[in-house]
Amino acid sequence: MLSALKPQPADKILQLIQMYRDDPREAKIDLGVGVYKDPTGLTPVMRAVKAAEAKLWQTETTKTYTGLAGEPAYAAAMAKMILGEDAAADRIAAIATPGGTGAIRQALELIKLASPEATVWLSNPTWPNHPSIIRYLGIPMREYRYFDAETGGVDFDGMMADLAGVKEGDVVLLHGCCHNPTGANPNAVEWAAIADVLEKTGAIPLIDLAYQGFGDGLEEDAAATRLIAARLPEVLIAASCSKNFGIYRERTGVLMALGDPALKPTVQANLNFLNRQNFSFPPDHGARLVTMILTDAELTADWKSELEEVRLNMLTLRQLLADALRAETGSDRFGFIGQHRGMFSRLGITADQVERLRSEHGIYMVGDSRLNIAGLNRNTVPVLARAVAQVIR
Ligand code: PMP
Repeated sequence: MLSALKPQPADKILQLIQMYRDDPREAKIDLGVGVYKDPTGLTPVMRAVKAAEAKLWQTETTKTYTGLAGEPAYAAAMAKMILGEDAAADRIAAIATPGGTGAIRQALELIKLASPEATVWLSNPTWPNHPSIIRYLGIPMREYRYFDAETGGVDFDGMMADLAGVKEGDVVLLHGCCHNPTGANPNAVEWAAIADVLEKTGAIPLIDLAYQGFGDGLEEDAAATRLIAARLPEVLIAASCSKNFGIYRERTGVLMALGDPALKPTVQANLNFLNRQNFSFPPDHGARLVTMILTDAELTADWKSELEEVRLNMLTLRQLLADALRAETGSDRFGFIGQHRGMFSRLGITADQVERLRSEHGIYMVGDSRLNIAGLNRNTVPVLARAVAQVIR
């Protein structure tokens, strides 16, 4: 049996990590993997997470199974964080999932159960795991235009034209904020127009929210999701706590399915069923920490202030990099970096130039020229700017 297996294509980002590790140069710079790093290059455990863990260690009396959907308090806390204090609980069915990836996977399985003919529309480009899981599940898939390589911004006209052609009942996957890999995001007016076109076509939005708090702020980054949730009758939201709580390896995510309150018991039963089939009970540790933080005023305040530090640190690096590139290249070509939000920006240089950054300068980024802003610091910004100016000359 095992001899029948074919080799799997290597994950490009994981491959890049290995190449970086194997590179003996001391001054190498890793801008590949999507993990937040503080100015000293560490991915720290957040203070509130540490405090919650200490408290949990003292107070937890059992590790018996939770519910199939995870703890209801976790789903309620996440619904409030994402949809706001007055989130209509009677519309929301939810399950805890292993990370945001688990939430996306369960959302796609739910779509397949409910509507096997539906096509899932993806932004071009998108996070490579989206098409990969969709293909694996055998779900029909199409792309809508998203990125304007000329301006480094959203190709809004192209996006709207393509979304206008979506069939009723098809699913449109949207990045709720901090688009990965481009860093380019619609503005508030554009989001309202996106909600209009989704409404008009009868599409079902599936919102991937993996970076709430990394863009313009915790509330601001949820605005598009809240708008769409308020406007559309049915919405799927797949959210991750990996980045904003810094609990990547705890595998903490949530899938929420919003719809007619009369359907909630059946939707919830189907979500529970999917958890049962795929892994039974979802991981609890990270979800419990998140719940403790979000339901304790002091821990919430501390977490918010540390998250804000993280966000502002990335914004400062963006501005420094945009300025340094302007100085080194004598042009405004990379000005969009200051406008982009989240951890990533797509530089828009060629694969050959990305390769030269690696071979000649020891600077690692993904082949499509996506760089992780948080991989930089004040010392490496000028090094990167100089190297980019050299390879594009
Ligand atoms: N969606 C996007 C766009 C992402 O970038 C990520 C993380 N790389 C995820 C979802 C899921 O993250 P995780 O499974 O680690 O929570």
